Parts: sequence; C-alpha cells; structure tokens
Amino acid sequence: MAGYTPMIQQYLAIKEEAKDAFLFFRLGDFYEMFFDDAVLAARELEITLTGREGGGKEKIPMCGVPYHSASNYISRLIDKGYKVAVCEQVEDPSTAKGVVRREIVRVITPGTVMEDKSLDGTTNNFIASVVSVDGMLGLSACDLSTGELYVTSFPEGMTALLDELTVYEPSELVGDGELLAKLKAEAAWNRQLPMTAYGEKGEEQLRQKFGEEQVQELSAARRKAVAALVSYLEETQKRALSHMQSITAYEPNQFMVLDHYTRRNLELTETVQSRSKKGSLLWLLDRTGTAMGARLLRRWIDKPLLSSSAITRRLDAVETLHRNLILREDMRAQLQPIYDLERLVGRVAYGNANGRDLNALKSSLRRIPELKEMCMRSGADVLISLVENADDCADLADMIDTVLVEDAPLSIREGGLIRTGYDDYLDQLREASTNGKKWLAELERREREATGVKSLKIGYNKVFGYYLEVSKANLSMLPEGRYERKQTLANAERFVTPELKEKERLILEAEDKMVDVEYGRFLELRDHIALHLHRLQRAAALIAELDVYQSMATVSAERRYTRPEVGEAYDLTIEDGRHPVVEAVMEGANFIANGTSLARPDRSILLITGPNMAGKSTYMRQVALIGIMAQIGCFVPAKRAVIPLTDRIFTRIGAADDLIGGQSTFMVEMKDIQVMTEKATVSSLVIIDELGRGTSTGEGMAIAQAVIEYIHHHIGCKALVSTHFHELAHLEQSLSSLVNARMAVEESGKDVTFLRKLIPGAADTSYGIYCAQLAGLPSSIIGRAYDLLEQSGATGNADTPVTQASVPSIESRRKNIVQLSMFEEAAVAQAYSEPRKGSSKGEQLAENLRKLDLFNMTPMQAMQWLNEMKQKL
Ligand code: ADP
Repeated sequence: MAGYTPMIQQYLAIKEEAKDAFLFFRLGDFYEMFFDDAVLAARELEITLTGREGGGKEKIPMCGVPYHSASNYISRLIDKGYKVAVCEQVEDPSTAKGVVRREIVRVITPGTVMEDKSLDGTTNNFIASVVSVDGMLGLSACDLSTGELYVTSFPEGMTALLDELTVYEPSELVGDGELLAKLKAEAAWNRQLPMTAYGEKGEEQLRQKFGEEQVQELSAARRKAVAALVSYLEETQKRALSHMQSITAYEPNQFMVLDHYTRRNLELTETVQSRSKKGSLLWLLDRTGTAMGARLLRRWIDKPLLSSSAITRRLDAVETLHRNLILREDMRAQLQPIYDLERLVGRVAYGNANGRDLNALKSSLRRIPELKEMCMRSGADVLISLVENADDCADLADMIDTVLVEDAPLSIREGGLIRTGYDDYLDQLREASTNGKKWLAELERREREATGVKSLKIGYNKVFGYYLEVSKANLSMLPEGRYERKQTLANAERFVTPELKEKERLILEAEDKMVDVEYGRFLELRDHIALHLHRLQRAAALIAELDVYQSMATVSAERRYTRPEVGEAYDLTIEDGRHPVVEAVMEGANFIANGTSLARPDRSILLITGPNMAGKSTYMRQVALIGIMAQIGCFVPAKRAVIPLTDRIFTRIGAADDLIGGQSTFMVEMKDIQVMTEKATVSSLVIIDELGRGTSTGEGMAIAQAVIEYIHHHIGCKALVSTHFHELAHLEQSLSSLVNARMAVEESGKDVTFLRKLIPGAADTSYGIYCAQLAGLPSSIIGRAYDLLEQSGATGNADTPVTQASVPSIESRRKNIVQLSMFEEAAVAQAYSEPRKGSSKGEQLAENLRKLDLFNMTPMQAMQWLNEMKQKL
C-alpha cells in the first residue's frame, strides 16, 4: 500500500471488507470504482474507463457514476448477478480532518435488493441458505422485501433439497461451501446462481431476535440454516431487520412434491419455450388485484396442499365468491387500489419508507373495513371466520392521517410533509416564514413605488440569499445610496439592504428549523408504525388471501370450472376434463373434452398410443393440472372431478433444459425414472411421455416395458404413459391394472383427422411417415419411405392383438400422400430424378437413404433424419 495517497489507502482498506463485490466509493457527487473493479464495471456498464493519480507509478484505473443515478447502475450489476457494496462518507467533509471517514453502509446482492426497480411486484425475491448438520440438510428462505422467512429440513439426499429449492427459485444462495458446490454440480439450472459460502454464525443472535421459544422448536439443521441466513442478511444490510418477525417452519411432506422438471413441463408459472408467465397456469389463474395477492397465488401454485380440510376451506371460499358475482366484483374493485402492503411494511422496517409510502399504507388500510364488511355480509362461514377478528389497523391509518399531508413529497428531508395543526412549534416557524415572505412581497411593492422602477423584483439564490434586482436600463432611476450593491450581471444589478438581510436571516433560520422539525416528526411517525409491523403483516396476509380467492373464483366462473371433490380415496375420476391453458389460448376453437378414470384394481395405469400431434401430451398434462388445481383449492376445468390427494407428481415430458447441461436425453430420462422408482408412493401420479425414446427400438421397448411393470408391481400408483411403441399394447394382457387407450384418428380419403378424443384400445401405427408428410416433406421422400417400410416387412402396425379393423394398410396410407405442387415437384426432381444422376446432392441423399437402418430407428429419429435431409435440399 505504501506510496498510495491516503485516500487510495482508505479505499484499499475498505475494499478488503468487500472483496467479492463492486465497491461504490463515494467521492463528492460520484461513486467511483478503482483498479480491477473499475475495469470490469466499465465493461459491464459501458461507461468510460479513466485513470487517476494515486501516488503509485502508474495511474490507477477508475470509473464512476453520478450518485443521483447510481441506483440504475446498481440494478444493472445486480441483474447480472454481481454484488455492490455502497461506501458512503460518514462525516461532514467540511469539518473532517484529513481524509473524510468512509464506511460501507450496505451490500446489495441479488437476493437482498429492496429497490422497486429490481423487484417484480408479482414475484417474491428469495434468498436461501442451505446447511448440513449430522446427516440432515437444512433449508431456509427469506424475501427481504416482505420479511417472509421459511425453514425446513430433510434427511441427507440432494433430490429433496433440489426439489424444495425449486419452489423458491432463489436469486442467491448462501451456506455450507461444500453443499453449494454439490448443488452447482448437481443441477444445470443452478449454475448461474450467485452463491456465497457463509459459515455458521449467529445462533445467539437468532435467540435474541426471535425469542427463545421460536428458536427452541427448531431442529439443529433448521436453526443453523436460519442463523446463517439471518446473519448474512444483517451483515450485508448493516441493520436490524425488524420486519422478519417470525420463522415459518414446515415439513416438506406437508405439500405436494413437484420437482424442477415437473414444474417446468407442466408450465405452472412460466412456459417452457419463452420462459414467460404468459401461457402458464399462473397466468391463467391470475386475476388478482394486488401484488400481494399475485405473489400468494404463485406460492399456492408452487405448493399444492395435502390436507383435505385445508383444501376444503379454500374451495368453500372460492365457491362463495364463484356463486356471487356482485360480491366478487365488489371485492375486486375494493382490492385493486390497495398498494403492496407487504413491501411497504418492509420499507418501514428497513428505514427507507418516505411520506408517499406511508400515505399509500394509510389508503390501503382504509380499505380493510369495507372488505371485512363484505365478507361478513356474505354469510359464508369461511369468509366470516377469516375476517371476524381481523385487525384493520385503523389507529395506524388515523395516525398517518393526522401527521402527514395528503400529497407528501418524495423527499423526507425537504419539508412539506407534516400537516398544519399537528405541531405548534412547526406552525410557528411556518408562520414566521410565511410572514417573512409576505414582508418580502410588501417590500417589493414599496420599493417599486418609491423608485418608480416597475420591473424591480426580489429574488433568491443559494450563494447571495435574497436580493433586489434592477435591470441596467433602469439603474439611473435609483436614488444614490439607496441600496448596497451585491452582484453584477450582464444586464442587471443585484442589491441588498440591512433590513432585507435581517429578514433573510429569520426566514432561512425558520426554514432550516422547519425542515429539521418535519424530518424529526416524520421519523417519529415511521418509528411508531414500525412498532406494529406484525399487525400490518397480518393485515397484508388477509388481503392477499381474499385476493387469491376472488381471482380463482373469477377465472372459475368465467371458464365454467366446477368444484372438485377432493378426498383420501385412491380412485381418480374426471368427467369431460379440459386442459385449462390450451383451452384458454384456443379462443373460439373447440377444445375436445376427455374423461379420465384411474382406479384400483383394474385401471390404474393408462397406456396411451396414437400418432404425434394427436393430443396425447395435452391430455396427460391436463390430468396433472386438474389435480394440482384441485389441491390448491381452485375449481377445475371438468364437468365433474373426483380427485384423490396426490403426494407427488412426476412427469417425464421432453428435456430441453438438460441438453444445456450436456447430458443426453436418454440419460436424463433414465435418471428421472430412477428418482421416480425411489420416491413414488401409491399416492403419486406418474406421467411419462414417449417412454423409451432416445435409444434403439429394441432396447427402448424393453426398458419401457420393464418400467411399466415396475410401476405396476412395486409402486401401484396411478400412471399415464404414452408411447410410440404400440407393440407394448400386449401388456394389457399381463398387467391387471393396465388398460390401453388411444387418441382417435379418422381417415377419410386423402386426409387423416385428429379427433383429440381418448378412446379405449391401442393404436395400430405411429403414423410417423404421415407426420413427416404433414411437416411438408416432398412426396418423393414420403413415397420412398413407404417403400422401405414395406420392403422391411414391417407394417408399422402392432404385431400383437389390436383392433385390426382400424388398421389402415400401408397401401391405403400411401394413397394419402398429398400431391405436391408443380413447383415442389420440380425442386424434388432436381435433387433426385434419374437424368440428373450426376448431381452430387441427389446421389448423396439417395445413398444416405439406402444406408438408413429403419429397424433401429424410432419414428422420432426418422422424423429428425427426414428433417435434416430437408435442410440440405
Ligand atoms: P401429441 O402429444 O400426441 O404429439 P399434443 O398433445 O402435443 O400431441 O397436441 C398437439 C396439438 O393438438 C396441441 O398443440 C393442441 O393445439 C391440439 N390439441 C391437443 N389436445 C386437444 C384437444 N383435446 N382439443 C383440441 N385441440 C387439442
């Protein structure tokens, strides 16, 4: 360090405390960054990199951002997963001796942002901690902006931990270094997550914060997880976080378990393709009026319940609102203007709520009495019990009303916040200031009269204070010695008088004091509110819950959903079920409803065959979604539904995510199946789409059969399995609980029409070539493919008992080849026809086709091959 200027030495010492963060070092009106921070920040923020003499041999790299726009730059860095340590001047530069003292006042990280800019109102922003203690894994998660704090634990085993982490989708992870490294290696979706190894600290602190009783109830792993998280938060935020008032501990098996891929595949909160909310179940069900409601709905979808009494309670509430259109609409109207109470409360606790925030708090609280009244009037027990004893925090709203003006300014340090009549001293000061200003106006009038200069005016600036201004043209009209000259401008002169100076002193003093008094009074008010955080959080929770009920009721009514019968029995019956989202986006087009019956002893596994595009995966997803909707307490898209409580849903449908992780689709499928064999119970629902794809036909089919048999013999759970191996249909004979089903297809003349109707029996063909034709492949390829199929002796039909009547021959299917347009014919002819045998492209294609080992290909692989060939044309 030797050789550096004192300021740079100070910088380096502080940087030691924040090695893993950008240090925003306050210098006057800028935050500056130096050395490597500066080089990286300049690149990430696209700002100019400069240099500064710092006492060393070379200039120190430096870049900076103005303090008033720093929040934009900070959120950009946070969004990229970095941390930012904000270092402020903590003494007055005018009185400081030597270098001004500076300290880090807060470290902002992806999991601890409080700024609205970086937070999405409808989503929680969780930071989670993971720890391991004596064979138990502890997981705690907190949303700093709302103060929610959760904790749970599991016996050692990464799967459960990963599943639970998925629920929170944390933006940052802290905890045991080893465990973090394992998590990183285990799941591709984790890799980008900022992680900080953070050891065991602060159990004592925990007891002080939450009280002996709450802490005592936690197991060692849970205690350690919460302790690590809370102390990390307090250490980075450098303040007591009083809105984290209680620890919500739960058992993972209190809720339905949905692993990461299942959540993704079922598109619960975002779509697989665009990763956007639009098109997800959440998007469909979200008609909430408040941000709190929107977040709670998401949490409910993330954690379907397993207790029928709790589900019934929710369903009762939804039913009441479903039946009563006026109540529903009134409630929504009453909810909509309510602000994000949870985050407002967070800001009060954090100490950054301003006057507008408190007014927003007040106006939101004012809506509670009417909401309560509505629920009481509804006559429904569930709503009445919810609000009966609810606290509307009227005293707090009244207090804000007494203290703050209606249109409070953004700043709390510039006055204009406190109502007249609230503080006598403030009123006196205000009067003094108003009188002073009146006196100024009077002076202006008097002097204009006395001098005859009509344009004479009184002005104010920070350097010279109040002055009288006379333009150059009128100077000659002033009697000699009337005023004292203060400042000369290009076309005017500014003057003062002793009297004006004296008044100025009084006015400025009063204004200074006013600002101080107002600030003090405001802090008193905010501190008082902060004593009641728990009450406010409860009020917010009540509003959120009502909001979710009205949201689910609104969608249920508009979309003609019905109340499911949820119970402990095994059998599942859905009459005329629909896929909620596919139906919603089809708009106008007719979604074909399908029933489902999964029951013991003779039909717990449904083996579904049928061509691609027939609607198999839509159907299977629909069953899972109806189950989830029922278990979150929502009505379901069906004429009638009897839903047994399901402890877990496994889905194996597509694997876009894993491809990034570098694993083969087949390997991922097998790993998932392994987890399923280990975790599924008789109360689970297993959904596997295209079981056994990704390997050779023989092996794929063998594995598929073995897996189905395992589910049948050893698990006994309900399962929907789709496969393109229609040969597996024979399992119906050997497995007593398995039934075949297929998606109906109608062939007439040239066309094949998908009826989207699930009917009994197995399909006879996978229609792979037909699909290739639909995809627009040239008729010569399609024709050739049928030739090859015929030559190979395979019919594409199941060679085991199926309803032969419905099996179309290759010949009949071949007939269906749609005539190509002249143009396409010509293009194909160019590539393949005899006269052009010399064409290398054509020859190459023919050669490839000859080499094709159709026996060892799945229809999917054939499709891919054809597609590749098409690309080459
Ligand atoms: P598969 O899994 O058999 O290949 P999908 O389930 O992906 O078929 O369905 C293909 C398309 O058919 C879907 O994108 C959807 O638009 C439509 N579809 C599926 N099921 C239905 C239905 N029951 N009613 C109407 N359209 C449907």
